[in-house]
Amino acid sequence: MSKQTFVIVGAGLAGAKAAGELREQGFDGRVVLIGDEPERPYERPPLSKDYLRGESAREKAHVHPGDFYTDREIELLTGTSVSAVDPGSSRVLLEDNRELAYDALLLATGAEPRRLTVPGAELEGIYYLRTLADSDALRSRLDAGGRVAVVGAGWIGSEVAASARQRGLEVTVIDPLAVPNERIFGERVGAFYRDVHLQHGVSMMLGRGVAAFAGGNTVAQVRTNDGESVECDFVVVGVGVVPRSGLAQAAGLEVENGIVVDERLVSSVPNIYAAGDVANAWHPFFERRIRVEHWANALNQGPAAARSILGGEVSYDRIPYFFSDQYDVGMEYSGFADRWDEVVFRGDPEAGEGFVAFWLRDGCVLAGMNVNVWDVNEHVQELIRSRRPVDPRALADPGTPLDSLLAFSER
Ligand SMILES: Cc1cc2nc3c(=O)[nH]c(=O)nc-3n(C[C@H](O)[C@H](O)[C@H](O)COP(=O)(O)OP(=O)(O)OC[C@H]3O[C@@H](n4cnc5c(N)ncnc54)[C@H](O)[C@@H]3O)c2cc1C
Repeated sequence: MSKQTFVIVGAGLAGAKAAGELREQGFDGRVVLIGDEPERPYERPPLSKDYLRGESAREKAHVHPGDFYTDREIELLTGTSVSAVDPGSSRVLLEDNRELAYDALLLATGAEPRRLTVPGAELEGIYYLRTLADSDALRSRLDAGGRVAVVGAGWIGSEVAASARQRGLEVTVIDPLAVPNERIFGERVGAFYRDVHLQHGVSMMLGRGVAAFAGGNTVAQVRTNDGESVECDFVVVGVGVVPRSGLAQAAGLEVENGIVVDERLVSSVPNIYAAGDVANAWHPFFERRIRVEHWANALNQGPAAARSILGGEVSYDRIPYFFSDQYDVGMEYSGFADRWDEVVFRGDPEAGEGFVAFWLRDGCVLAGMNVNVWDVNEHVQELIRSRRPVDPRALADPGTPLDSLLAFSER
């Protein structure tokens, strides 16, 4: 039996999956999984969707059944915060001053909501959403009904707006961009999402930011930077997240937009690894570092880090993938596109039926998104991986199977 101890800080999806993988791979030493939340590891996507609307049970959100950890002798310490890491002595310090020595350490500390600091930001009735406890609080507030102002039309804001509408609340969304997620999607896809919300009766106040919140003790008004105000009973803020890299930073690890790791998920200290939302990892396919704040990345990168810890040959090169559900609109997005020359559409977003959008640079597909069209994501990823120029007319033609395009792109 191994005498080694592997410690994982952060009992979210990446941490829980990493712990499971260590056992799956036959590691029989000590595995300690430490999380500061009271709950055993759970997945966050339901927290803005079915769980928030009261349509699914708490149990469904958990990553593993309760006995998973005991059965595998994974020491799960919930409600326990790690206050420091000492790479010199390979120890972590817990908040109650206990120390724990490790042979390898995985930091899977995730991310936390970016906070607004405008005047009135401290008023009651302003909600953020990251944890199950946050979702419980917001769910109770939705139960009481009324008018909600959602600040931010990114994923969390958009999904909360949809859930609130589905629960019958009056919803106003405020965002400085002209259309939701404009930087990721561009104008036309962003406009599609704006229209989806408009069709469901959401008031979309786009192209303006929040200047202040006003009210007595509790927020009653959002003031925008173009001088308008929105009356509301409560506010939900979803303006992005920041990686929780404070521990790593204090320990002297290289940190830049998250914990910097290589394709083996090793940090600047050889026996410290990082995975999930907190990891800014070298991506061998894109030949640059990428920090991905999505479920599939945490799901896969945690286990990859575990294999790397065990000495396996790991080169984490999965194409980034995420999904979102708003009302009856489901989508999957694969790839990474921060600049593109054109967006090609297969199907017509304005027709209200499903479509696939492709972001192209130099004729090659960088990213693709299928909206209410299914079973194409794999082909989209293959097109991206091929790195070959594709014929945009064939790409746009629903009659041309995507896998045949792949053959075309390989000629
Ligand atoms: C409401 C919501 C909806 C989402 N929906 C989608 C979706 O539809 N599709 C999608 O692709 N992605 C979605 N995501 C994103 C996805 O959930 C995240 O990418 C994923 O949770 C990241 O997992 P992680 O394990 O890296 O980090 P986290 O889930 O953040 O887990 C990290 C854990 O570490 C703990 N921790 C941090 N510091 C310490 C410390 N010092 N000591 C002990 N514990 C610590 C944290 O409290 C946390 O429990 C959603 C996220 C949210 C919040």
